[in-house]
Amino acid sequence: MKKLQQIYEGKAKKVFATDDPDVVLVDYKDDATAFNGLKKGTITGKGVINNRVTNFLMQMLEKNGIPTHYIEEISDRETLVKKVDIVPLEVIVRNIAAGSLSKRLGVPEGTKLKKTVIEYCYKNDDLGDPMVNEYHIAAMGWATEEEVKLIAGYSLKINKLLSSFLKQSNIELIDFKLEFGKTSDGTIVLADEISPDTCRFWDSKTHEKLDKDRFRRDLGGVEDAYQEILKRLMGE
Ligand code: UDP
Repeated sequence: MKKLQQIYEGKAKKVFATDDPDVVLVDYKDDATAFNGLKKGTITGKGVINNRVTNFLMQMLEKNGIPTHYIEEISDRETLVKKVDIVPLEVIVRNIAAGSLSKRLGVPEGTKLKKTVIEYCYKNDDLGDPMVNEYHIAAMGWATEEEVKLIAGYSLKINKLLSSFLKQSNIELIDFKLEFGKTSDGTIVLADEISPDTCRFWDSKTHEKLDKDRFRRDLGGVEDAYQEILKRLMGE
């Protein structure tokens, strides 16, 4: 597969065309942003870790019946994935209160939720990714009601699979963000990444934060936390 021209550059990844119109190459960067791009920095080694962790978890999910965009890891930072049209939604799944939910509802971080919560945000940086519901999604035509049902079903199954998988490595899955895309034949697949950038991972026993909150909140030990996740999952 040939790496051709860059077609997109996001906050954490670049995307390149390949000689197959149905395949693109994702290249993970060390750049980190938070608060809708207001805070910027570098997390050395993050691109390598997020590439490897994402691919490892995507393969685990695929084996367990979740269709994903993953095709093949081709280097430390580069992966071939199916070309998709991204559904312009961030799907947030929450098991334990943290972050914006704690702020919005006045619930202390770490409070176990009685039921898993799914939230949708409209992917739009200029608008600050506003939260929307199923009615907005159908009204705006971002996805059909059937597609939203499928996405919600996948998200809950992913939550079950990821939570129990991570538990074996003493990692508690607090919450996470997913993105889905549509392939050229119309199939909805899991896309984007699953990494310490997009999930809250706490040590099961000490509740130490092992994710991007260390960067967002200037807690220090950012690189070590990302490395620790890689080590616990893949033994390195
Ligand atoms: N998240 C993300 N990208 C975003 C917003 C949130 O990956 O643009 C993830 C975040 O890492 C956390 C979960 O989604 O695991 C819930 O985030 P929250 O709504 O609490 O927002 P935050 O506190 O991160 O601003």
